Amino acid sequence: MDKSNNPFVLAQAQFDRGAELLGLSEDVRAILRWPQREFQFRIPVRMDDGRLQVFNGFRVQHNDARGPNKGGIRFHPNETLDTVRALATWMTWKCAVADIPLGGGKGGIIVNPASLSDGEKERLCRGWVNVMWRNIGPRQDVPAPDVGTTPQMMAWMMDEYSRLVGQYTPGVFTGKPVGGGGSLGRTEATGFGVIYVVREAMKHLDMDPKASVAAIQGFGNVAQYAAIGFKEMLGGKVTCVSCYDGGDKKTYTFSHPSGVDAHFLQSITDQYGTIDKAKAKAAGYVIEDGDAWITKEADVLIPSAIEGQVTGETAPQMHKRVRLVAEGANGPTSLEGDEIIRKRNIFLIPDFLCNAGGVTTSYFESVQNDMNFYWPRDEVLAKLDQKMTEAFHGVLQMSTERKVYMRDAAYLVAIDKVVKAMKLRGWV
Ligand code: NDP
Repeated sequence: MDKSNNPFVLAQAQFDRGAELLGLSEDVRAILRWPQREFQFRIPVRMDDGRLQVFNGFRVQHNDARGPNKGGIRFHPNETLDTVRALATWMTWKCAVADIPLGGGKGGIIVNPASLSDGEKERLCRGWVNVMWRNIGPRQDVPAPDVGTTPQMMAWMMDEYSRLVGQYTPGVFTGKPVGGGGSLGRTEATGFGVIYVVREAMKHLDMDPKASVAAIQGFGNVAQYAAIGFKEMLGGKVTCVSCYDGGDKKTYTFSHPSGVDAHFLQSITDQYGTIDKAKAKAAGYVIEDGDAWITKEADVLIPSAIEGQVTGETAPQMHKRVRLVAEGANGPTSLEGDEIIRKRNIFLIPDFLCNAGGVTTSYFESVQNDMNFYWPRDEVLAKLDQKMTEAFHGVLQMSTERKVYMRDAAYLVAIDKVVKAMKLRGWV
């Protein structure tokens, strides 16, 4: 992989910056720059046509000083060990900043899941667990869904693990379907979590949520619930959302003069996340190029689609009204984009703080699995709100005290917590 777009090079560079600000010793840095354990393996799967196909799988456990490793499993044709290493490292910081007692992990298989039948998917999922089961578990490492994997796949994986250990063990995977050990509130958790921290940032910035306008990029899981939450929880207006249309391979921005109705848009969005343009147009929506979202007159920008969207090229197009950028997606801002946000003095809620609602609710799911007692949705969301609010104020306090940018403050809080746990356990 080209060094310049290798995510693990970026993850290590970000860590080095935080380590420098914290004045960490060389030995502590040597531990945290690299994952503790890495597994690379091959999974033979009997395909529907009788052939045996071998897939490459990974699991990286970055750091478990604060608790069992936690992080998704991706099924993606371009999966690489370095991508998995970077994502596992970021999970360590995300769990630490959200103050949930878990470490960082990530896994993957090099595969395009769309090319597999349901039976092949199930055999591949069970195959992954057959290799990894001795090194995962509710007290070791708890995987979850990610790009290309689904709640149904987690249910198969949990079943395979339970079969191998001879005991029903729902807490070994999170993101399971409700009724199959999943938690209520998980679907909306990440998007609502974004809104809880946006609400706190608005208080800090003395902004009136009811008079505020947000422009959102994306209309997947995170964006949909961020859009619903911005309107229903804060009373603000969402001026636009955007989506990728796999049919004509283009992105589009959908705006409405009186604000978008996310429930209506959900009802005209297909299973691939594409909004029906004809139906949207008939309902009065204006449809523009996918990049238009960043140019909208808005107080809050919520990039919630994919990485690398707020860049040296697009960030200068942000409207002068923008005061707050809340990173719903992972890594939506490039280094150049970040510099522009900083220079314009726009308040930033960095990704691993802003979108920590997903992993926090996954943690709640494993707690409920452990107790074999399930909470109502309102209780899950109230606990999530409390965790996100506390996490936000922890980072804000660090930013104010050390007079550093919010992204740096989030790294300082996260790395410091992990180092403290390592010291308490006598590792350093
Ligand atoms: P989804 O796949 O549900 O949604 C993302 C959507 O964005 C997809 O429909 C995708 O289309 C679309 N998209 C891709 N490129 C663009 C573009 N340039 N402009 C507009 N839309 C685009 O993913 P999530 O909502 O779950 O995740 C969004 C981001 O949030 C990711 O960065 C993810 O890592 C992060 N995140 C998600 C969490 C969760 O709990 N869901 C937790 C923490 C972080 P297509 O599928 O056709 O490519």
